[in-house]
Amino acid sequence: MIELVAALARIRARIEAAGGDLGTVRILPVTKGHPTSAVRAAADAGCAEVGESYAQELAGKAEELDTDVRWHMIGRLQRNKVRQIAPFVHLWQTIDRLSLAGEVARRAPGATVLVQVNVTGADQQGGCPPERVAAVVEACTDLGLRVQGLMAIGPIGPPDTSRAAFRIVRDLADRLDLPERSMGMSGDLEAAVAEGSTLVRIGTALFGPRAGGSAVGN
Ligand SMILES: *Cc1c(COP(=O)(O)O)cnc(C)c1O
Repeated sequence: MIELVAALARIRARIEAAGGDLGTVRILPVTKGHPTSAVRAAADAGCAEVGESYAQELAGKAEELDTDVRWHMIGRLQRNKVRQIAPFVHLWQTIDRLSLAGEVARRAPGATVLVQVNVTGADQQGGCPPERVAAVVEACTDLGLRVQGLMAIGPIGPPDTSRAAFRIVRDLADRLDLPERSMGMSGDLEAAVAEGSTLVRIGTALFGPRAGGSAVGN
C-alpha cells in the first residue's frame, strides 16, 4: 500500500516532468496479472478507475471485489466475451470494428467507448488503421454508443518514434473533436503526455512485473 502510494507519486512526477497537468492527465492503474488485492490497493490509494486486459480476469475480479471501482476494458476483445463483462465495464477502450461495436451496443446500450487506433501496424495489438477511425466512430454513434475518445498502444522504440505515433492519435482526436486520448504506458508515458494524453495506462511501474508475463494488448 505504502509502496503503491509512492509509485503513484513517482508516476505523477513523471507526468509533470513531461509537461503534463495533473488536472488533465489521469492515471489508470492496470491490474492485469495481479490479484484482486491490487485493485483494492489502487482503490484505497484513491484511484477510482482500473484497467484490465482479459475479459475472464475482469469479470472474476469484479465479482470478487467489494469496493466500487470503474472498470476499463483495455485488452483486445472478442465479440463472444462482451456479454460476460457488460455488467461491469465503465469504459470500453478497444472498440476497433463494427461487429464489436454492434455487440457492445446490444449488450450495453448507450455505453461509453473509445475507438482504438493501430499506429504500429502490429495486428495482434488490435485497433483499426488511422484511415478507418472516422468511419468506426460514426458507426458507434449510429449504434447509440457514446464515443469519448481514442486509445492507442505506442510502438516499441525511441521517444521520437513514440511521439510520432501518438501525434497521429492526437491529430485524429482533434479532427473528430474527441476529448479523451488514452495513450502511454509505464515505458512511454512521457512521449504520450507530450502529445496530449489524457489517460495513461500504468501496470508495471505501479505493481511490478506480472505473473505469467501477460502481453500488452491482449
Ligand atoms: C498491459 C497493458 C498496459 C500496461 O502496461 P505496462 O507497460 O505494464 O505499464 C497498458 N495498456 C495496455 C493496452 C495493456 O495491455
